[in-house]
Amino acid sequence: MTDTLRIRSIAEAPGQRISVDLPVPSLYTHSAVSMPVHVVNGRRSGPRLFVSAALHGDEINGVEIIRRLLKSASLKGLRGTLIAVPVVNVYGFVAQSRYLPDRRDLNRSFPGSERGSMAARLAHLFMEQIVANASHGIDLHTGAIHRDNLPQIRACIEEHPATERLAHAFGAPVIMNSNVRDGSLRQAVLEQGIPMLLYEAGEALRFDEVAIRGGVKGVVAVMRELGMLSARKSRSRQSREPFIARSSQWVRAPQSGILRALSPLGSRVKRGEVLGVVADPFGEHEEKVEASASGLVIGRTNLPLVNEGEALFHIARFEKPDSAAQAVEAFQAEFDPNTDSAPPPEPPIV
Ligand SMILES: [Zn+2]
Repeated sequence: MTDTLRIRSIAEAPGQRISVDLPVPSLYTHSAVSMPVHVVNGRRSGPRLFVSAALHGDEINGVEIIRRLLKSASLKGLRGTLIAVPVVNVYGFVAQSRYLPDRRDLNRSFPGSERGSMAARLAHLFMEQIVANASHGIDLHTGAIHRDNLPQIRACIEEHPATERLAHAFGAPVIMNSNVRDGSLRQAVLEQGIPMLLYEAGEALRFDEVAIRGGVKGVVAVMRELGMLSARKSRSRQSREPFIARSSQWVRAPQSGILRALSPLGSRVKRGEVLGVVADPFGEHEEKVEASASGLVIGRTNLPLVNEGEALFHIARFEKPDSAAQAVEAFQAEFDPNTDSAPPPEPPIV
């Protein structure tokens, strides 16, 4: 494909910043559609990192993370190439939907194929144009609609030391070690032997300033670790060690009804603790939602209207849950716009 060569040749033009519009299937209105890519080349050669967002079209925190990253002054000293793809699922982004027009999930359609479904074709395009030209990757996600995720890194760290190094460098308070066999971009990239992180933070269709700030800092920290940006002169205030979750489980609604959630995201909970109460609209037939394990709430629903069996609270188990809870608090305090000592370059999104 000529476009593959195009991105490769662009990536070889030192010191240049170039936008490329990758053509993707047009709308049935005949309107042309493209996937926007921004390639930033350092003056010196080095790793080629792709950073992608909105594979799920309604997950918008990552789009803002990439915007801030591209404005960052530290890119001036870049070594290597940054390939930024802020809106991978252009169709879903326009429709404010997780899915593609064919109702498939792009992140379950990798590595895709040239003649497959629409999702398979887009996945294939991304593999050919972006992944084939990259040495490392970071994919940015949020929870699904009405679901909020505590900032966390998901990566296969057990068998991949290079990935583990980057996962630690990112600096999110929690790492979920996961081996995936789900047709995700992460699986396809990993099978190519390319280290890749997935950052999960916040909720679909919402901006979350802490998740965004933490994400920008995390990507920059990974670029420093890779030698793409020079290391910080003074060691950052906290170079916290993230906590690796041993396992995680969802606590589900015991009955349909209206949920009064009692445990916020990031809270430390003990097995058997009441996380919320589900009742009918008359306030009768109350049922308690109890923690099925001790750990930290790393994901939860924000919608109080629940059906029996629905996933309500995601609890991760840790060897040292109290220390993990402290790391979460420190992370939230560090990126909280209200506790900022230095004025930000632009106003925070609230
Ligand atoms: Zn997602």
